[in-house]
Amino acid sequence: MQTTTDYAAMSQRLLEQLPPLRNFIGGAWTEGPTGETFTSINPATNQPIATVHAAGRAGAQQAVRAARAAFDSGAWSRMAPADRARALRRIADLIRQRADEIAVLETTDTGIPITQIRAGQVLRAADNFDFFAEMATQITGETYPVEGAFLNYSVHKPVGVAALITPWNTPFMLETWKVAPCLAAGNTCVLKPASWSPLSAYLLAQVIEEADLPPGTFNLVYGSGDTVGTALCADPEVNLISFTGETTTGKQLMRSGAATLKRYSMELGGKSPVIVFADADLDRALDAAIFGVFSLNGERCTAGTRLLLQRSIYDDFVARLIERVRRIRVGDPLDPATEVGPLIHARHLERVMGYLDIATAEGATIAVGGRRPDRPELAAGNYLEPTVIVDVRNEMRVAQEEIFGPVLTVLPFADEEEALRLANGVRYGLDAYLWTSDVGRATRLAPEIEAGMVWVNSQNVRDLRTPFGGMKESGIGREGGRHSFEFYTETRTIHVAFGRHPIPRFGATP
Ligand code: NAD
Repeated sequence: MQTTTDYAAMSQRLLEQLPPLRNFIGGAWTEGPTGETFTSINPATNQPIATVHAAGRAGAQQAVRAARAAFDSGAWSRMAPADRARALRRIADLIRQRADEIAVLETTDTGIPITQIRAGQVLRAADNFDFFAEMATQITGETYPVEGAFLNYSVHKPVGVAALITPWNTPFMLETWKVAPCLAAGNTCVLKPASWSPLSAYLLAQVIEEADLPPGTFNLVYGSGDTVGTALCADPEVNLISFTGETTTGKQLMRSGAATLKRYSMELGGKSPVIVFADADLDRALDAAIFGVFSLNGERCTAGTRLLLQRSIYDDFVARLIERVRRIRVGDPLDPATEVGPLIHARHLERVMGYLDIATAEGATIAVGGRRPDRPELAAGNYLEPTVIVDVRNEMRVAQEEIFGPVLTVLPFADEEEALRLANGVRYGLDAYLWTSDVGRATRLAPEIEAGMVWVNSQNVRDLRTPFGGMKESGIGREGGRHSFEFYTETRTIHVAFGRHPIPRFGATP
């Protein structure tokens, strides 16, 4: 078991050794053509921790050319799936070997508590490579033989060059969630991480370099969404875009890619309900509701940010909730005891706190939290006390808009009908959590909730083979298991006739 001191010393040592981060294009590290740099900030101190070379528009285009050349060479795209799988398993092993280093730098870069990153995110990232390596060897098609006449069958081929555009929350895990299936299916890619969390993508590129993939198979470019992101989306040589980020950004991306008709997977924002009926196991529901919204500092797409409580349990449940939330340990994210760390950026903290002002202006009440902690050792970081807002009406902005911080809104409901109306009464539809011990009710309600994923009596445990993604303004498409392969491969259908079927002979008669 590591201590805060161990992790802090490790963080300092790793940062001292960290060179300015360069782009990885065509198998080589490069500052890129612009000469521009930006800085990454430690959210716990607001001190700079890394200089990053921005690739700019021209660097993005170079990366796409490199990925295209690599794809066309066939070195990766035509490699035997078993060999591709071996290379991906090597990446998984290298991630596990460097798990402490990756976790410490990710925590230092994002403010997400080390325990949540080390156990949950980094090991899951390694699993992503192992999992999709296995799937690469199992890609199959459909066959439709028609006895004595013809055979129709389909094959799944890699699509080409993918642009993978990722957000700053849990960057390492989300990046591997895209890179692993993309490469497993035989595509080449250009990864563009978010500018507020560039460090772990650098380590991912190092790991992939060590795994010795053909040059240009994986490329990394840094820079803003406006320059690098837009250039990737507009590039005619990019065939598919997998994006995770805000809904408004997703809409912009689709506009940028419209002229060259990209294939998209969109994993967007959420405002997910946690519905608790009076007959539920209330102790487990309470644990799950708290963990679901305050883990990962509340910067979590699948966070259950709207707690809907049946009226008969409302007062008791809220009282217990407040008591627990007051005791959540806010602090240094490198401290293994910390449960909630600082938000990613001072600008994001300001945005989240803006919602607290909006809540009170609209007549809601902040029942606990809502302030920056007044401990001097936390003064320099982007800390916010875990917050619960009550007296909320569903039309209020805090009940409708994604806040993306440690903020929970609570609403009462009378019966199933009202629970469903409130749950579905938002423009998002990523996921939902349903707590009841009545199997009939759970089975009846779950498919009526407008969400891509519904968890029943469960805090977000799932098998990697299940489809992941949202409906309404939370996204388009599903990833995970064979669903990732449906996105990352082109289905081609081949019709072979046995040579005996009649063909109308137009023009044969003189
Ligand atoms: P964001 O939309 O601001 O940025 C995401 C990425 O898009 C970044 O790399 C950014 O540089 C890039 N980008 C920005 N403008 C662009 C443009 N015009 N063209 C191309 N690229 C552009 O999101 P964020 O603030 O980094 O992340 C938080 C958001 O991500 C939240 O809304 C959260 O719900 C969402 N998210 C969704 C899921 C999911 O699976 N549905 C998972 C994690 C996060």
